[in-house]
Parts: sequence; C-alpha cells; structure tokens
Amino acid sequence: MKNIKDYNLDALKEELVSLGEKGFRAEQIFKWLYVDKVKSFDEMTNLSLELRNKLKENYNICDFSIERKLVSKDGTIKYLFGLGDGNAIESVLMQYKYGKSVCVSSQIGCKMGCKFCASTGALFVRSLTSGEIIEQIIKIEQDTGETVSNVVFMGIGEPMDNFENVMNAIGILNNQKGLNIGARHISVSTSGVVPRIKEFADKDVQCTLSISLHSANNKTRSSMMPVNNAYPIEELMAACKYYMDKTNKRISFEYALARDNNDNLKDADELVNLLKTKLGYLNLIHVNLIPINKIENGNYDQSSLENIMKFRDYLNDHGITATIRRELGSDISAACGQLRRQNLK
Ligand code: SF4
Repeated sequence: MKNIKDYNLDALKEELVSLGEKGFRAEQIFKWLYVDKVKSFDEMTNLSLELRNKLKENYNICDFSIERKLVSKDGTIKYLFGLGDGNAIESVLMQYKYGKSVCVSSQIGCKMGCKFCASTGALFVRSLTSGEIIEQIIKIEQDTGETVSNVVFMGIGEPMDNFENVMNAIGILNNQKGLNIGARHISVSTSGVVPRIKEFADKDVQCTLSISLHSANNKTRSSMMPVNNAYPIEELMAACKYYMDKTNKRISFEYALARDNNDNLKDADELVNLLKTKLGYLNLIHVNLIPINKIENGNYDQSSLENIMKFRDYLNDHGITATIRRELGSDISAACGQLRRQNLK
C-alpha cells in the first residue's frame, strides 16, 4: 500500500481526483498530516466517511516506532527509528540558540564508502521514500512537543543518490501547508556527486548546499572518499562554480580534520589556493572545520584543537571564512559521521 506522506500537494490533488474526489481535499489532508500530525484516517473528521474509507483502502500513514532514544549531556537526542520492514535508521535532534535542528537520514545504509564514516560499515539496503524522510521530523516533533525549525540532510546516506525523493521531501517540508520550514533553513549535503550538484543548481531551490570536501588534493581525498575517483576535485569544483554562477548562493565546505592526514598548514594552503583559483566568489564560501570523529575500526584520529585553530586562522588570514563546528552529541555517537544503519530483524 502507498504511503500518503510520499505525495506532495499537487500529486495528492491528482490522486484524489483519480479517486473521484475534489482536489481541495488534499489541502485538508495535508493539514491533518503535517499540522495536526494525526496517525489515522479516522481522525480526519472533516472528511466524509466515504472518503476516509477510500483513503484507508488505498494508502497508509507512515508511522515509525521509536526503538531507542539516547540523550546527550549537551541536549542532543539520537533516535533509532523502526521502519516497520525490519530496517532501522538514525536521526538526530540538535538544540541551537536559533532553534531545533534535525539531521535526517536519506537512505538505509550508504554506497559511498567514505572511510571516516560509520554509515558505510553496514551495507546499503535501499533509499528512503519522501514520506520516510519527512516522518523523521514529524516523529521527533511528536515525541518532544517542540517545533523543528531547521533540517540538515547529513544523516545516513548520500542525498544526491536519492535525488528525486529528497527533492520531493524538500517540497513538502517547505510547503506552507506542509511542515512550513523555510527553504533557507534546509541544508543538503553531498560527498560530491557532480551531475546531481548541477541538477540541484538548475532547480534553483533556496536550500543551502554543503560539500564534504575534506581535502584539496586528489590523492588524500580519494584515500578518504572513493567518490573522488569518479568525480575528482577539478570536476567537483567546476560543478560548484556552476552552482554559484547560476544561483549566486553560498556553499558550505565541510572539512573533517584527521591528525597527520589533512590537518597541517600545507593542507590549509592547498585549500586556500583551490577555493580561490577554481571558485572565486570568496563572499559565497564558508568552510566548516570539524574535528573528525573516531569510529570503530576507523583509521583516523582527531586533530588536536591547537592544530584545528591554526588551520582555521590560516584560512581566515587568507580571505576564506572558516569556523570550527561545535560538536554536538559525540558522547552518544550522534556527531557527524557516527550514525549507522541498524537491522531490527
Ligand atoms: S559521509 Fe555521507 S556519503 Fe560518505 S559514507 Fe557517510 S553517509 Fe555516505
């Protein structure tokens, strides 16, 4: 049976018309799903009994189970959600001064094989549907009673490898009659799937784009991220330039520092040169420095804070805005690169 949360508003209108109903019912259903967050069609009391029965015959309402919930000392909450088919995914709620932010997963497992990431240890199973992406936010709002103001696609999976569903989910998140989260408060992160970055630019959505860069030279980057063999840095930079030319929007570059791997000033200098020569647009570049998180059987150790600060200062002194990301939830393995697919069977 189809999950009704997989449909955006226009698609749901078409579905209803195909069932012999009036299209405007879709807006009523959207309100029940995303404002009232009901779990059954019977609760949609302004719909006729006949329509509710038709909906029950044709659709289900996706509802995850909370299998585990870990609360960090900094207030970050990591959820393990059961999807009902034996699979489970992790999502994280982070508390910032500006509001509540949810890091969502986009796939069950990940094909990209980044060497510093726990998600890659478990095999790829499948991509999440749009409704399953959105459900992570709804479930967290239901559980905490709080409103989520920001969404980052940085959990398990490569969002650009599930492009259509991610874009559809963004449309529902962003719709004023849906979850009504402003596009500027939604951030999509990619390991560097070049064709999809260009497609993302062509769609001209107002979301923020983040690129996991982690090194400015192909040898080191390929050793950390196999995707670099398919789309080396030159192609990645060309796609970023295309995005900036087209949208005039900022790109955030993620750079996880691992000791003696990519964290010395020679690496910082390479990064400055790369961004300046290949992109220009210094006002549209931001580098997020992340102390790499050690994972089980992982090869990388975290850089010292001193090194990270020197790296940041070097970038800032050479005209590249860089900040060190405050790590949330590392005591519960909820920090960047620490989420993993789980199996409930
Ligand atoms: S860092 Fe992202 S793209 Fe790379 S393996 Fe992990 S989840 Fe996949």
